[in-house]
Amino acid sequence: MNVIHFTSCPDDPGDQTLRQKAASVKDINDRVRELVAGMRALMVKDKGVGLAAPQVGMLQRVFVTHADGDEFRVFINPSVLWTSQEQAVYEEGCLSLPGIWAEVVRPRAIKIQAWNEKGRAFTLDASGILARVIQHEYDHLQGVLFIDRVDQARRDKLLAKIAKAKK
Ligand SMILES: [Zn+2]
Repeated sequence: MNVIHFTSCPDDPGDQTLRQKAASVKDINDRVRELVAGMRALMVKDKGVGLAAPQVGMLQRVFVTHADGDEFRVFINPSVLWTSQEQAVYEEGCLSLPGIWAEVVRPRAIKIQAWNEKGRAFTLDASGILARVIQHEYDHLQGVLFIDRVDQARRDKLLAKIAKAKK
């Protein structure tokens, strides 16, 4: 299996992978399954609850989750079908932005449709932590990071912290 690594910071002009929109997976084949297995291993190693392919430099619409109390899940070519009116606040972090945390407001529940690594389509109703993780990972496929979902002043502070950590 190929060893996969994190891409560098998104706001580094030298590496904009995390700022681009990921492309749909055309065929759920062994290459995709290998990517999923590598992402799962990396997520487990770093004790993450979710990981999206752009975070490892692959601009493909794939993410995995392992939210607290939930099973390991794979989402390929996901579409968000519904989000609740009701919002929730939760402190988020990201494996691509180590040491950075911020409270983010998002819908409390969602309905999502996707395919798993076996090529099987599924629809999932999620709320609580799982809904949170899914929305965070889904954002990665759109080139969006959780720091984009906080107010400007807070975002500037977080970016300054990221820049400082990189030195
Ligand atoms: Zn993330």
